[in-house]
Amino acid sequence: MSFSFDINHAESNSLARVGTINTPHGPIQTPAFIPVGTKATVKSVLPEAMKDLGSQALLANAYHLYLQPGSDVLDEAGGLSQFMNWPGPTFTDSGGFQVLSLGVGFKKVLAMDAQTFRRDDVIAGNKDRLAHVDDEGVTFKSHLDGSMHRFTPEVSMQVQHQIGADIMFAFDECTTLHNTRPYQELAMDRTYAWAIRCLDEHKRLTQERVGKPYQALFGVIQGAQYEDLRKKAATDLGSMESNGQSFDGFGIGGALDKGELGTIVSWVNEILPENKPRHLLGIGAPEDLFVGVENGCDTFDCVLASRIARTSAVYTMEGRFNLSNSRFKRDFTPIDSQCDCYTCTHYTRAYMHHVFRGKEIISATLATIHNERFIVRLVDQMRQALLDGNFAEMKADFLGRYTHRSGQSRD
Ligand SMILES: [Zn+2]
Repeated sequence: MSFSFDINHAESNSLARVGTINTPHGPIQTPAFIPVGTKATVKSVLPEAMKDLGSQALLANAYHLYLQPGSDVLDEAGGLSQFMNWPGPTFTDSGGFQVLSLGVGFKKVLAMDAQTFRRDDVIAGNKDRLAHVDDEGVTFKSHLDGSMHRFTPEVSMQVQHQIGADIMFAFDECTTLHNTRPYQELAMDRTYAWAIRCLDEHKRLTQERVGKPYQALFGVIQGAQYEDLRKKAATDLGSMESNGQSFDGFGIGGALDKGELGTIVSWVNEILPENKPRHLLGIGAPEDLFVGVENGCDTFDCVLASRIARTSAVYTMEGRFNLSNSRFKRDFTPIDSQCDCYTCTHYTRAYMHHVFRGKEIISATLATIHNERFIVRLVDQMRQALLDGNFAEMKADFLGRYTHRSGQSRD
């Protein structure tokens, strides 16, 4: 087995730690931000550029790759890493979040205000319900061609084994903050039962697929904003063992109220086994990454950095702004004078403004490189600050200047 997690430093006054996740495709120094390449590509950016900007690993999505080109194609190609020409470690999201958000049209992980939500039948405007959950799995309609499909824990494990990422997630029922408390309990019971089925199928596939690199399986902690549910999920999945198989790490999933992020994450991480890595799913805005790191999360992913880049929005030390704004037409300074990315060392805001206004394809490439570098580097700096013993100062310095606050997304 070539998967392990070493803790190199742990804070005495918080849950934060610095570690190394070792995978068959190489190590990941944590805390780390993992950029998202949903369909086996970070949109508009070459893998070489992702490596150059410091990305240690990439996260793709099982649901999207199952529909197109088909997980069997990735298996035949030699796995995700080989298929997409990314030699480093990879993750796949289980597809649970994606098929379930097809049902309701809500893609946000973090809500700015969760107080007004409490219904199970709510769907976003103009959306048809495309997924139906039962105790065995989820039946859903493809967003590509309307064809019907069914994911069960076993199917998700088979698909993720074929895709071949180093780190996979168990198939879970991801609820939203809109759901009622009774529904959250029901969904958590389902996620518990599905976790056991994932462990069993994962063990069977690992034994069957002789000669393939070991794929680690992370259990996903649900429970929305409820303390007792989150703690129960962490206790149950943290100690879960089926036929001698336990989880290699954990994902913290589900909808989160932005104001409660730190509290919810600490409930869970105080209980989860210390010696296993913890991934905070779908979180990636600068202010939330600090909260995640100081409450004991090791890795993060979020599609926001690349998605907003394509709309001309960029992160900087002074906050987030849009390059298409006319005030940048004659601004011949870099996007962020303190950024060391390829875009900031070669281009000006005026050029970026021009290519966005002209709808040039390169606008997406250059802005994505900057945003991914900004977030990857920020988490790298947090890791260094933990090692140097000045995390609190570094956080205060950053947040003192950074102003923008936003929700989070998974893809
Ligand atoms: Zn930059």
